[in-house]
Amino acid sequence: MTIHIQTPLIESLSVGKELSAKVWLKMEALQPCGSFKARGVGYACSKYASQGACAFISSSGGNAGLAVAYSGRCLSIPVTVVVPVTTKQKAIDLMEQEGATVVVQGELWIEAHQHAMSLAKQGAVYIHPFDDPYLWEGHASLIDEVKAAGVKPDLIVLSVGGGGLLSGVVMGLQRNDWQEIPILAVETQGADSLAVAVAAKEHIALSAISSIATSLGATKVAGQAFALLQQHPIISQVVSDKQAVDACLNFLDEHRVLVEPACGASLAAIYQHSEILHNKQNILVIICGGVGATVEQLNQWSHSL
Ligand SMILES: *Cc1c(COP(=O)(O)O)cnc(C)c1O
Repeated sequence: MTIHIQTPLIESLSVGKELSAKVWLKMEALQPCGSFKARGVGYACSKYASQGACAFISSSGGNAGLAVAYSGRCLSIPVTVVVPVTTKQKAIDLMEQEGATVVVQGELWIEAHQHAMSLAKQGAVYIHPFDDPYLWEGHASLIDEVKAAGVKPDLIVLSVGGGGLLSGVVMGLQRNDWQEIPILAVETQGADSLAVAVAAKEHIALSAISSIATSLGATKVAGQAFALLQQHPIISQVVSDKQAVDACLNFLDEHRVLVEPACGASLAAIYQHSEILHNKQNILVIICGGVGATVEQLNQWSHSL
């Protein structure tokens, strides 16, 4: 069963203005659960269901948890999401609306996660937010759709948290014989786990996350994402929280679509016209989406950052 939907691929004159290249947007914000996670999580859940899974567990209060809740509803398989007390009520409401059981446990995410893992030991399948080959295979479908639409990018811009999207996009490029297409991998300051690993040439972790772009908040990227640095042309770029937030507000005005700062990071890289965007013809930006932002919150951040 396919959980995700095919998303529009649209040319954006407004995002591309002042650039010589055409800018194409892959509108993952329009997935039914609001982000590209529908692809990988949906694919993984379908696979595990066909292998006999009878319950799913997540420990993400963000878009990954919501995607598991959505997938479980589509597959008629019960979902439990364990989240720490710091999780916003709105996030809990969205997951409950999808029919998931939300258990609030612990002050810190790690406590919620440990409880989730103990539940997983009793037979439910734990769905990782970014580190699972099924997830990457599911995300790869995004590139299949771009190819089928007849657009061949010469640069792909995407955001990186734990690197699941990055790993899936590279898988999609490889399986479509497009392995030469470079990727601009964007993070925010304080959630720049790929950038620090690139700089150190070592698979290291951040000691803490200080960015407001919580969906990018993995202290260490997946081993696969780190390994891909040796196999694929990947350029790492870091933008500020303020740049990511302002990019969201700009994008909202231009395209009337609300996205999280995690997604705004990729847009900020475009709005800054950095060197790497020059001499390109077709730039593909993955509008990864996210349900965690409100207009009010974006405005507040824009003023306070
Ligand atoms: C999960 C997520 C990311 C980061 O994806 P990774 O696979 O962890 O790199 C970026 N943006 C949004 C909106 C997300 O939900």
